[in-house]
Amino acid sequence: MMTDVQEVKPLLKPFVIGLDLGGTNSVFGVVDQRGQVLATTSIKTQSYKTVEDFVDASIEVLKPIIAKVGGIGQFKAMGIGAPNGNFYRGTIEHAANLVWAHDSVVPLAEMFSERLGIPVGLTNDANAAAIGEMQYGVARGMKNFIMITLGTGVGSGIVVNGQMVYGSDGFAGELGHITMERGEEGRSCGCGRKGCLEAYCSATGVARTAREFLQKTNEPSLLRELDHDVITSLDVSIAAGKGDKMALDIFAFTGDMLGTACADFAAFTSPEAFVFFGGLTKAGDLLMDPIKEAYAKYVLPIYKDNVKFLVSSLDDAAAAVLGASAIGWEM
Ligand SMILES: [Zn+2]
Repeated sequence: MMTDVQEVKPLLKPFVIGLDLGGTNSVFGVVDQRGQVLATTSIKTQSYKTVEDFVDASIEVLKPIIAKVGGIGQFKAMGIGAPNGNFYRGTIEHAANLVWAHDSVVPLAEMFSERLGIPVGLTNDANAAAIGEMQYGVARGMKNFIMITLGTGVGSGIVVNGQMVYGSDGFAGELGHITMERGEEGRSCGCGRKGCLEAYCSATGVARTAREFLQKTNEPSLLRELDHDVITSLDVSIAAGKGDKMALDIFAFTGDMLGTACADFAAFTSPEAFVFFGGLTKAGDLLMDPIKEAYAKYVLPIYKDNVKFLVSSLDDAAAAVLGASAIGWEM
């Protein structure tokens, strides 16, 4: 009888907490099984000098949203998506952008679990995004796909046979740091190496491409009217939307490199889809068409016709919290 009771119990807990822990904001959400975000709250990640202070502040803001749905007894678990998050250990390890974790290993999952009394899972933000797509988004029902997040960096989450790939140490799937340009001419990357995909195809990479193109030629462009040092990928998007040739060329260059990389990724896991997420995807076909063209050009013929290129269907503001919360259902 006891066993029966224990097996039924999780069904009585209809909610999970999701935490999207970013370099600027930490956003918490109460999420139900259908992916509805019932309540959110947030704190500034960098306002706290130690992880203890960060967790204290988190618990304070969580209390009212937990109370709103009937207390902590209603929660199955908490999921956290964080930079350099390690799923196996529940730790954030040497995250360059976090003052309280940049030179240390922080056992954040355990700290939250002790305070809240529920299981807590943690993984990196791109993996969280992939789990979110699988649970609530365009990858629902898919067993093999690769999530590619195009933000300040390029992140990825790899799902094979219905399971997230974590690898031997929990850090699998750093596809943003595969080398696209070898040798000295490769752009320097935040990871300390040269020529990484991220140095070209992240939002900051696109801005770098814009500066390079502006220096390389005298071609007229709307981008010339802007201060070159502060140009952003959004500026490039806006100019491309107006038909500016150089801006279109920048997207063609970016898409070509992403498509070339995807052609190689296909050879690893034979995904049924690549799912893209992030601000750059707002450029729509301007980016997706060159990705598809390059993919078709460089991929091994056996993978050519079966791959879909999709853009995340999740609402931007909610996607990261949803992704994080989805880890909670897997606990
Ligand atoms: Zn790199």
